[in-house]
Amino acid sequence: MPLEEHYSLKKHNTFGVEACARYFAPIRQMEELEELLIADLWKSMPTLVLGEGSNILFTRDVDGLVLKNEIKGIAVIRETADEVWLKVGGGENWHRFVMFCVGNQYAGVENLALIPGSVGASPVQNIGAYGVEVKEVIEKVVAWHLETHELLHFSNADCAFGYRDSVFKHAYQGRLMIVWVVFRLSKHPVFHTEYAALREELERMGVKTLSLKAISEAVIRIRTRKLPDPAKIGNAGSFFKNPQIPLAQYQALKQQFPDLPSFPVHADSVKIPAAWLIEQCGWKGYREGDAGVHSQQALVLVNYGKATGKQILDLSERIRQSVHERFGVWLEREVNVW
Ligand SMILES: Cc1cc2nc3c(=O)[nH]c(=O)nc-3n(C[C@H](O)[C@H](O)[C@H](O)COP(=O)(O)OP(=O)(O)OC[C@H]3O[C@@H](n4cnc5c(N)ncnc54)[C@H](O)[C@@H]3O)c2cc1C
Repeated sequence: MPLEEHYSLKKHNTFGVEACARYFAPIRQMEELEELLIADLWKSMPTLVLGEGSNILFTRDVDGLVLKNEIKGIAVIRETADEVWLKVGGGENWHRFVMFCVGNQYAGVENLALIPGSVGASPVQNIGAYGVEVKEVIEKVVAWHLETHELLHFSNADCAFGYRDSVFKHAYQGRLMIVWVVFRLSKHPVFHTEYAALREELERMGVKTLSLKAISEAVIRIRTRKLPDPAKIGNAGSFFKNPQIPLAQYQALKQQFPDLPSFPVHADSVKIPAAWLIEQCGWKGYREGDAGVHSQQALVLVNYGKATGKQILDLSERIRQSVHERFGVWLEREVNVW
């Protein structure tokens, strides 16, 4: 297994910021991970598990070991007339996996087409888009514990999934490499077209009969049009989560800001769009050096070329501060900061 030293991570993060890994190891099989981690050398060093780097901001070098998950493979492990169970390597590309499912008429992930990143990272923040979250189709997550060297099996309930959240961002943060995910998909699609943007796109496409292919194509079209392509402009998608606030706080804010949009979550709380709050504070399209806020998507922070992770993080902190001053709401980061 190749072990690189003093390895640039610039190509391995979609922000395209410079950071150096003291050691960098691509992991193609779980056995390689076992073999590598036996050495005492790693015990005193920080370790970072990396997928495709589309949800991470490097603000410093990694003075330790970066394990790049390249464990591949999609296998049917169980099948009935109604459902199929797929065991998928953590290093598989997420969108490639979605296209595999669509091509085989396995339903459940079509609304999640074109989300960047790896399958192994998908449970970490419970990826979601267009009314669907990956937790709905995850049966099991299998992960290698980097300290105890045990293989752990997490049921869906063990993962403690929440909105862009899971146990992997808390008790197990930095401690595991997710090596496989087992998905349970349906052979009888239930189409999720609650999102107006998705319905409109399907209409524009002239779709008369819904299909997995039509849904995934509509999602791909919307995303391609709306979101900045990291290959052209560095970014990690939404930088912040949409804040969920108590109903009473929402009602008070709504009196002050009658245009404040919201989505109901529970009887006693609502979600408000972080993009709206950021835009109201005048940040949309703001640029300082090479760090900025995208001109079409206020939730997306961008690197126009040579911004450092620290500059992007500083900008994000100023945005948080100003949103708090104006609305009394603290934005929480969706992107992981190293
Ligand atoms: C243009 C754009 C659009 C996006 N749109 C969406 C969207 O619609 N919905 C959404 O939910 N997200 C979205 N994202 C965020 C991103 O696509 C997801 O968070 C994705 O799951 C990250 O995958 P990755 O492999 O790149 O993870 P990385 O960025 O490599 O890692 C993210 C975090 O997960 C950890 N991690 C990664 N792999 C593993 C593993 N195998 N085991 C343990 N820990 C691991 C890392 O240590 C890190 O903390 C978007 C990003 C971009 C750039």
